[in-house]
Amino acid sequence: MDMKDLNQFPRVSLGVFPTPIQRLNNISQLLHTNIYVKRDDLTGLGLGGNKTRKLEFLLADAKNRGAEIVFTTGGAQSNHAMLSAAAANRLGMKAVLILKQRGVTEIRGNRFLESLMGTEVILMDTDDYADIYAEMDRIGSARGLVYYKIPCGGSNALGTLGYVDCAREISRQGIFFDHLICAEGSGGTMAGLALGGKLFLPGTKVYGMMVDSDPFEEITPRLMREAADLLEADIGISDRDYSLRDMCGPGYAIPSDEGNAAVRLVAEKEGMFLDPVYTGKAFAGLLKMAEEGAFRESDRVLFLHSGGAGGLFAVG
Ligand SMILES: *Cc1c(COP(=O)(O)O)cnc(C)c1O
Repeated sequence: MDMKDLNQFPRVSLGVFPTPIQRLNNISQLLHTNIYVKRDDLTGLGLGGNKTRKLEFLLADAKNRGAEIVFTTGGAQSNHAMLSAAAANRLGMKAVLILKQRGVTEIRGNRFLESLMGTEVILMDTDDYADIYAEMDRIGSARGLVYYKIPCGGSNALGTLGYVDCAREISRQGIFFDHLICAEGSGGTMAGLALGGKLFLPGTKVYGMMVDSDPFEEITPRLMREAADLLEADIGISDRDYSLRDMCGPGYAIPSDEGNAAVRLVAEKEGMFLDPVYTGKAFAGLLKMAEEGAFRESDRVLFLHSGGAGGLFAVG
């Protein structure tokens, strides 16, 4: 198809790519199919995680605009915010995190890592991101420095390109997958994989396991469309390009019993650590699909391990 090459977009190098793909032999035996993991928990910045791919595009844009301060936001234990701070430090920019004062706010998990990095963190008592973005503008202007705002989760069109690129990377790793499964929190990862899947992984079905209660049936195709427009890809987007499943349980960042059981199962069987907020819940969705007979014995299923180690030490 006629479109821009991903390599044409400015990018800073923050991670170690390609991340490995590994077969989970014990889980595969248990589920009578072939379960593989794309190890994006090993992206090589901080404790790893999916936001590294998005930040390579987003922070290149910030740098090109001469940003001195990088703002971002999320929940109190946001993996994205922590990784953004790690990346900004490496690039010699100052990160300021304005986080929602909800959930686990003690200096544990990602808050602890932020304290190690000397990150400026402001907790704001609001449920509305519009308040937080307004506060970024207020602080940025007051300090008189060039600032750059990264949206929650890094999920705008540019950040989404990180996962279009991940799909391209998977297509070059030599194994065909029937199914590709990821957690969906702010949407960019899933939208990127769904768009990238369409472009680079023909025949692979992409599934988003929703771990938040936002309207992903609108968010997913919108981000796919915006990222496709950035790529100038003349491609139709429809809800047949992906499947969504609600795995949120009691609420965003509140562990679910089935998610915690999945974290334990994978730790016990494979010595690999999922997290209670995203990947545990998403893997619980994979287990449900297996139970429902969604995978044949010969199928290959690729689960995106998107990271979240910080949350393992703070939440649940
Ligand atoms: C942010 C995050 C996700 C979800 O990615 P989105 O692009 O926000 O949907 C999944 N897993 C982990 C560990 C995350 O930190």
